[in-house]
Order: sequence, then C-alpha cells, then structure tokens
Amino acid sequence: MDHERARVLVLAAHPDDAEYHAGGLLAAHASRGADVRIISVTDGSAGHHRRHPRELAVLRRDEAREAGRVLGAEYVTWDFPDAALFPTLELRRRMIREMRAFRPDLILTHRTCDYHPDHRAVGQSVQDASYLVTVPLVAPDAPHVDTAPVVAHMCDLFTRPYPFRPRVVFDVEPCLDVIVRMLACHRSQVFEFLPYNQGNERVPESEDDRIAWLAAWYRRMIRPRADHFRAALVARYGEAGNRVEHIEAYEISEYAAPLADDELDRLFPDPASSPGGVPRIRVEKGPQ
Ligand SMILES: [Zn+2]
Repeated sequence: MDHERARVLVLAAHPDDAEYHAGGLLAAHASRGADVRIISVTDGSAGHHRRHPRELAVLRRDEAREAGRVLGAEYVTWDFPDAALFPTLELRRRMIREMRAFRPDLILTHRTCDYHPDHRAVGQSVQDASYLVTVPLVAPDAPHVDTAPVVAHMCDLFTRPYPFRPRVVFDVEPCLDVIVRMLACHRSQVFEFLPYNQGNERVPESEDDRIAWLAAWYRRMIRPRADHFRAALVARYGEAGNRVEHIEAYEISEYAAPLADDELDRLFPDPASSPGGVPRIRVEKGPQ
C-alpha cells in the first residue's frame, strides 16, 4: 500500500447497494482522485413489479453505469441472477480474479448476517476470497497478490448473531447531494420499484420534485444510523457529534488485512475534510 491514491473496490449484491450504504465514502475518495470500482454481483433482475427480468437486467446495467459516471467511477454489473445468489466456488474464484486484477487497498462489502440472502452470499464470498487471494495455487491463471487488502463492511443495524461494531463513523451531510444524484440514476428502483414495494408511495411528476422527494426519502431511510452509533459519533466529533444526523459506518473484517492507524485517513477520508469542505465531484448532467 505504498501508492498515494487509494484503490477502492466495492463488491455489493445489487446495483444501488454501493451508493445507499457507502456513497459518502466513495464520493470522498472520488474527490481525492482515488480509483473507485463498483461491482454489483447480481444483475438486479428481480427488483421490479412489472418489467420483464431480462429487460430489467439490461436497464439496470445502464443505470449503474450512469451512476458510476457521477463519481467518475467504473460501475460494473455481473450477471449472477438477482435473488438467487449462493456463495459458490464459481463466485469465490471470480472475486479472487477481480481482486488480483484491480489490486484494491480497500474492499467494501456486506456483512455475512445481513437481511438479504444475496448480501449474505456476497459478504461470505468476499470473506472466503480475502485470504485465498494471496495463495498462488488458487485460481493460478491470475497472478496472486502478496498481501490481502483491508476489507470493510458497510453498516447495517441487524443484531443477530452480533451487532455491527464500527471502526469508522462519519458525517455524510456534505455528500448527500452526490449520493442522491447517484441514486437517482437507478430510476427503475427509486422511482418505480421502491415506491411500489414500500406501500405505493406517489412519486412527484417533475424532475426537480422527484430529486427533492428522493433526497427526503434517503435522509429518512438512513437517519436511524446516527442514533444507533451516537456514542461513536461523539467520540469522533466531540459534543458536535450529538447533532450529526446522516452518517456512514464501517466495520473492519477480522479475516482480511488489519487497518493500521496510519492508513485510517487515507482509506476512510472524512467527507467534511475534503478541500473546501465539500467533495468536488463534477456532476456532468442530471438523470434524464
Ligand atoms: Zn441489495
């Protein structure tokens, strides 16, 4: 890990998981010129109430690519079928080859006790790959790496079998605009399936109103995180931590490289400490 710019790889289950759980950290990295690569392991083909799965998979690949452009990151969708993922040998080897090709300093993924079976399968496969990536005779066609990357779990609030233990928490308020712009690219989700799935909420007609509606929805959805990890926020920000409302939190995997204290700021840059206070992401255009 001797190069200056961090290399960050997200291995998440679905197109939109990365921005929902880690958009602030990814924005902070992108604003510092890091190489950010986002992978949705499944094709997202189960996330709708009326579109055909094949049509949906194509649409979601395009939506993800567009979301990646907001950050200047590559956003790739693999073709494992949505809502049918298992931590197979095939998936583990695919991840090992991906890690060896991209050589990330930091991998972000789900925990193995998350609610969604696809999230669990991805978390398990990353865990299984994160030591074997150093073993030459595993997937020998891809040259092995000498050291495992740091693996961090994106936060969830589940408690069984054990609650999330954050090593890093930070305020994502300066990044909310970027996160919402990324989320808005996933139109089939945020403006179609999620409103349907969450009780037929009405989505406003005009684009500006839709973005405002999405921003309010996103704030509401992640708001419980701040209270959940309040003690950690106060430890980080002092008394001001009591007033923080929208956060991200990361737990470091025990099964990959440990996070050294002197690597903490490089791998987890605080969005608020970006130059000018706000990550300078160039948003080329809003969603159509
Ligand atoms: Zn998901």
